[in-house]
Amino acid sequence: MTLSFELETAKTIARIAAGICQNIQAELVSPSQKDGREPVTIADYASQALIGHALSENFPDDAVLSEERSEEFMLLLNDRQRALVSRFVTDAVGGYVFEEQVCAWLDFGKQKQAERTWIVDPIDGTKGFLGGRHYCVAIALMAGGEPQLGVLASPGFYSDQDDPPADTGALIYAMRGAGAYKESLAGGEREPIQVSLNTDPRAATLLTSFEAEHTDWSFIDDVSRALGRGPDAPRRALDSQDKYAMIASGLGDMYLRVVPDPRFREKLWDHAAGYVVVSEAGGRVTDVAGRPFDWTTGTRMVSNRGVIVTNRFLHDAVLDAVARAGWAE
Ligand code: AMP
Ligand code: MG
Repeated sequence: MTLSFELETAKTIARIAAGICQNIQAELVSPSQKDGREPVTIADYASQALIGHALSENFPDDAVLSEERSEEFMLLLNDRQRALVSRFVTDAVGGYVFEEQVCAWLDFGKQKQAERTWIVDPIDGTKGFLGGRHYCVAIALMAGGEPQLGVLASPGFYSDQDDPPADTGALIYAMRGAGAYKESLAGGEREPIQVSLNTDPRAATLLTSFEAEHTDWSFIDDVSRALGRGPDAPRRALDSQDKYAMIASGLGDMYLRVVPDPRFREKLWDHAAGYVVVSEAGGRVTDVAGRPFDWTTGTRMVSNRGVIVTNRFLHDAVLDAVARAGWAE
């Protein structure tokens, strides 16, 4: 069964949701208030409500796994903040969107048993969104216990390049068995993407989280050393699943992630879309012990620890280095 309609719909939804995030960023993120969380709260709810609305219209029988819930929306946001969310969603869908509708769309598909589940991160990389760096809207569709398609709408995809294009955004997407592609976020021709061919771990570009507390840096250092990498080996720190998109497009070669707390388990929506994109671009994704991700354990991947993403040529070398550094459980 082909999922072409699902993919095209997810692409459209992700684009519109990313547009909402950009509008909110332009209006509410001020340079003097870089630490204020309010814009990301508004954007999280507005983006998820829009996505829930579009999924409910197109795929009423499907389930949804996503972070935000209407209960918190009503409890944690004040009147002004909730009105802002309604306004940004109204701007995107037209008519007038009341708070009750926002709540219903936020909760669409939750706690539901269905053959298919949409996995949604309305803004992945919230700190990047606030800091004007990388962030993306991530949408995946899971069926048969595995993500079947993934879409990353990334307004800041080229934002940290030396010579960024006028439109810094990209839409990166893939469907199982159909390859991975990139388009401008503004629209246009699609371009097939593929992982790099690098086989030398010392010269490979290593991607890590931007935020210090998201990663155990001793893990990164130990594995880097075990790979024979020197202090000048190429490395980039960036937020969100753009790290998957970078590897899928050959702009990075490996991505290592272990959260410092050993009990921490990764959330599905932080990886599902990126996983499909990298897999279809020829790369490989496992946990630190080399296990494939088990997508069937609910919101968190309780059977896995950490994340290793590579162009596949480097994967065995990285897993070997992880083991030699004493990190595999
Ligand atoms: P990244 O941008 O790759 O560093 O990771 C973004 C994701 O990390 C977010 O979507 C959160 O789910 C997750 N996250 C947020 N805070 C933490 C934390 N303190 N430790 C680990 N992961 C976190
Ligand atoms: Mg996230």
